[in-house]
Amino acid sequence: MKFVFGPVPSRRLGQSLGIDPVPLKTCNWNCVYCQLGRTIPLTNERREYIPREEIIAEVNQALTSHQPGEIDWVTLVGSGETTLHSSIGWLIRQVKMLTHLPVAVITNGSLLYLPEIRSELSPADAVLPSLDAGNATLYRKINRPHPEVSFKRLVEGLVAFRKEYLGKLWVEVMLVKGLNDTETALKEIAAALKSIQPDEVHILQPTRPPVETWVQPPDEEGLLRARAILGDIARVIHPASGSFDLSGAESLVDAVVGIITRHPMCEDELIETLKHFSPGEVSATLTELEKCGKAQVVKRFGTRFWSASPAHYPDHAGEGLPGHPM
Ligand code: SF4
Repeated sequence: MKFVFGPVPSRRLGQSLGIDPVPLKTCNWNCVYCQLGRTIPLTNERREYIPREEIIAEVNQALTSHQPGEIDWVTLVGSGETTLHSSIGWLIRQVKMLTHLPVAVITNGSLLYLPEIRSELSPADAVLPSLDAGNATLYRKINRPHPEVSFKRLVEGLVAFRKEYLGKLWVEVMLVKGLNDTETALKEIAAALKSIQPDEVHILQPTRPPVETWVQPPDEEGLLRARAILGDIARVIHPASGSFDLSGAESLVDAVVGIITRHPMCEDELIETLKHFSPGEVSATLTELEKCGKAQVVKRFGTRFWSASPAHYPDHAGEGLPGHPM
């Protein structure tokens, strides 16, 4: 399977069957914390990056090969921005015809200012957009967006979507130490959230390798401050533990590439995830994939993570990126 993966454990969505409708890394943002490497180049073009029938054929295959109870949610979550796939609405509707399982869409929310995107996402049971900043300057610093997707459009889109959308709107706030975990930054985010009125706010922190070397998760104090300022509907989401279902992978190489393309992991975590194989086999496969240019080691937080090799991670703060904040 190329476009469908898992189910994988998710703190919010239980065992989640993932649908990845865009190639790595098709995005209109270039977030400093992105675990998928830098966005080169930024794109805001909506098109059928992957033929929609091929995606739905894989979803059908995955749904029929699992027993009831093995999947809790079907989640559109891209190796980039999901709403850039021009058939996102068609995909959601098709999934809902195939299964009664709830459908979630993880999106950066930047295109919700467009009425057609709001309408396309409306059949989903939950939509999880991002809001990491409460002003345009910090938005540009953290999310480094395509010029067409401004902060004003982001907030206006979220407000308009909330008014029309009947499903669960769970806004994600990714905290980056020293950038948006300060009292001022959090109060501005809280003000924007007040105008949006989401059902829940999910506070996240970078745990997988952030693209920029200087990005750090908030400390305990920053998390407590965020909980206090973002209010009762905010909760801290910690990464889920549990097993990745790899039955869709045809070989160990497929399984490793499938995981590290979407979830870069340290070697111990990969060995645990791939426990049906011996640790020696997993290590040898990683070395082989590195030699042939399909995997790479990314060093962050003093740890070596394995990631897919086309992803671009600078080795040093600011490499190729003048004007970074540290
Ligand atoms: S975190 Fe999401 S929105 Fe940000 S650059 Fe990565 S894929 Fe795009």
